Amino acid sequence: MDFEYTPKVKDMQERLLAFMDEHIYPNEARFFAEIAENRAKGNAWVPTQIVEELKPKAKAAGLWNLFLPKSTRAPQGLSNLEYAPLCEIMGRVPFAAEIFNCSAPDTGNMETLERYASENLKDEWLEPLLRGEIRSAFLMTEPDVASSDATNIECEIRRDGNDYVINGRKWWSSGAGDPRCAVYIVMGKTNPDAGRHEQQSMIVVPANAPGITVVRALSVFGYDDAPHGHMEVLLKNVRVPAENILLGEGRGFEIAQGRLGPGRIHHCMRTIGIAERALELMCHRLNTRVAFGREVARQTVWQERVAESRCMIEQARLLTLKAAYMMDTVGNKVAKAEIAMIKIVAPQMACQIIDWAIQAHGGGGVSQDFPLAYAYAHQRTLRLADGPDEVHRNSLAKLELAKQLALPGEVDMPITRGS
Ligand SMILES: Cc1cc2nc3c(=O)[nH]c(=O)nc-3n(C[C@H](O)[C@H](O)[C@H](O)COP(=O)(O)OP(=O)(O)OC[C@H]3O[C@@H](n4cnc5c(N)ncnc54)[C@H](O)[C@@H]3O)c2cc1C
Repeated sequence: MDFEYTPKVKDMQERLLAFMDEHIYPNEARFFAEIAENRAKGNAWVPTQIVEELKPKAKAAGLWNLFLPKSTRAPQGLSNLEYAPLCEIMGRVPFAAEIFNCSAPDTGNMETLERYASENLKDEWLEPLLRGEIRSAFLMTEPDVASSDATNIECEIRRDGNDYVINGRKWWSSGAGDPRCAVYIVMGKTNPDAGRHEQQSMIVVPANAPGITVVRALSVFGYDDAPHGHMEVLLKNVRVPAENILLGEGRGFEIAQGRLGPGRIHHCMRTIGIAERALELMCHRLNTRVAFGREVARQTVWQERVAESRCMIEQARLLTLKAAYMMDTVGNKVAKAEIAMIKIVAPQMACQIIDWAIQAHGGGGVSQDFPLAYAYAHQRTLRLADGPDEVHRNSLAKLELAKQLALPGEVDMPITRGS
């Protein structure tokens, strides 16, 4: 495996870093101030001007839609391995990915439409998403069932003549708070009597279809994540044309597997970026604060933590690059063990490093003066979103156990009890 960045990626890295320095870091405070201002006026759910101002600049700089591999509709898209170091840079600032049209859940939804939608649906929804004119949400999780087991999803998608009629309640529909969010991909049951993995389907639903109510916004450790948001959405007798079903009835589980692979690795790439930033902030703080007569950095407990952080980031990055390489070369299905591994490793790594960085900043660490508290809240959710840690560990363990069972000449180890 060769993880050397190609000249094309190195060039893009340089341009992206320059863009971050010129346009993104200097506007971090403005982004949050704009949202606070909108909130104070009574409506946080409006797009920020700063993000809208920067999007045409990112497009003009050739830093647009980099996430989508092998699509004629987005020829600038990179392979997963090429995209990894760039996505990592975007991950350093929470709102940066959107400026490059590379943010969740739109990237996962665009990839789903690209792979599984008809040409008509692509023209209608994928094209405006790729142009960054609209946004989207993915509606799988439901409040009433353990949704980490996707076979539990209960939302009803019932065929009625040339339409499907949808009834269900969803929550954690990220992005559905944004007024630009024009389309949902909804997962639900078309046939409760089919086999366990053939009951579910995915369907494209315009966000303004009659019968849809965005009930409320859920907070994340007290943050509303406006204007993106995580919404509870009620679908009551929502009617969409039968052609909106993706791939066909009973294929939802299969699509979920295809969709969640790229989405998961993108989260992990960004996670490495925020972990790097936390380590930088931690080192700067430790080098510049003096307590009990010397810089805090000279306390060995902090040297331990700094060294450990560097090891953890490098390990996670290498594993991410390996997963990206496998996705590019053998496909998402064969790479599922590596995708599960990185989804387990990266958010825990980032949570630990951000936690140390918060500690290094003392009281300031949990305040709004540093990006650490918000970063921690976001990274902690990634141990749940796109599947809780335990579920990924279960799948990984099953793959490992099956692999070991298939090995020839297995040694029969006696089990000793007590000693
Ligand atoms: C910030 C955020 C954004 C999200 N965005 C979206 C989105 O855009 N669209 C969407 O559809 N969903 C989204 N989600 C929902 C997320 O995907 C679910 O919360 C997650 O899949 C878990 O489902 P659940 O909440 O129903 O938990 P449950 O399925 O009820 O699981 C609860 C807990 O049970 C334990 N558990 C479950 N299975 C096992 C097992 N096999 N072994 C051991 N323990 C187990 C785990 O500890 C797990 O955390 C988001 C969540 C968050 C927090």
